[in-house]
Amino acid sequence: MAEITLKSLAHTYLSDPKSPEDYAIREMNHVWHQGGAYALLGPSGCGKSTLLNIISGLLEPSSGDVLFDGERVNALPPEGRNIAQVFQFPVIYDTMTVYDNLAFPLRNVKTPEARVHERVMEVADVLELTAQLKRKAKNLTADEKQKVSMGRGLVRDDVSAILFDEPLTVIDPQLKWKLRRKLKEIHQRFEITMVYVTHDQLEASTFADKIAVMYEGQVVQFGTPRELFETPNHTFVGYFIGSPGMNFFDVSFRDGRVLADETELSVGPGVRRAIEGARSTNVKLGIRPEFVEVHEAPVEGGMEAVVEHAQDLGTYSIVYLRLGDTPLKARIEEDQAVPVGRAYLRFPDERLGLYVDEFRVEIDHE
Ligand code: ADP
Ligand code: MG
Repeated sequence: MAEITLKSLAHTYLSDPKSPEDYAIREMNHVWHQGGAYALLGPSGCGKSTLLNIISGLLEPSSGDVLFDGERVNALPPEGRNIAQVFQFPVIYDTMTVYDNLAFPLRNVKTPEARVHERVMEVADVLELTAQLKRKAKNLTADEKQKVSMGRGLVRDDVSAILFDEPLTVIDPQLKWKLRRKLKEIHQRFEITMVYVTHDQLEASTFADKIAVMYEGQVVQFGTPRELFETPNHTFVGYFIGSPGMNFFDVSFRDGRVLADETELSVGPGVRRAIEGARSTNVKLGIRPEFVEVHEAPVEGGMEAVVEHAQDLGTYSIVYLRLGDTPLKARIEEDQAVPVGRAYLRFPDERLGLYVDEFRVEIDHE
């Protein structure tokens, strides 16, 4: 069991890196606490697998340190790190039985055979592989093979951490949901640090207590699903989390007014002052579709918008609007009528986020 600290870590696959874009991992500091259930969430190519492989020791970082419980482990090979890793595609021995595949990681560290049996039976039970134990791995379906591969990652209870790299990609959707629940159960039972890599926000939030959102080789936010939803730290988190993602407006301050292109936005004095004081030309206001107030008739402080169309999703609708030249989306619940033609919008001040150079800055509403 261990706390995993990444200190000034950076990695490039190039021999002569010149700019930040040449780095798969841009300098980062991060701590995975002992016993946590974590997700590492981000789009394809953002550096998730690179980061896991550095933690497990398959890859040596270009610079910086990996610490387990404060001890630098950079020089330790994967076998010396006591970490289990489950990959996207099954890693199993085809000619061995399912039982022997599951037993392998335990026998490898000279576990007494009685204990091997106990653990194999336990893990097989959790993953519903008991009926397959005597079969040769090569005769299994793709789903079953990946379950065996996961079982091999779960079978040792003395590891420092278990790293999962998009382990459910090849698994059928129904079974996926079930296995994710199982992993959560296993985590609760054994309290092993788990880092679960995925590009799927739903998968991340059903598994993890805390999610690290990764973008262009950096962790841009580390928080609970609720924090990522309510206060995204970076515009990317706003876009990526939520369905649909957050609305953003490029804003400027002119003649005492807050403008999105040439359209004046109706915002409170705190927001106005913050935009006036921003020292950058890259200033955005963000608001989640859930928090946009939509009215059918003019209201005090309401901004007139064009209703382009609406998508009825049963218990709620997504309304596609245009405020001046800027498109935006609003989510309204089923008990509210979808406006036709025009709508009047309000942005509650406390729901607005201000982003300068893509990062969120505090707004003083006093
Ligand atoms: P993810 O797992 O988030 O999809 P990766 O860590 O696999 O991302 O990749 C991060 C970046 O590093 C990508 O730009 C990818 O093309 C590059 N990359 C990954 N592996 C290698 C490699 N072995 N050699 C060169 N570039 C690589
Ligand atoms: Mg990957």
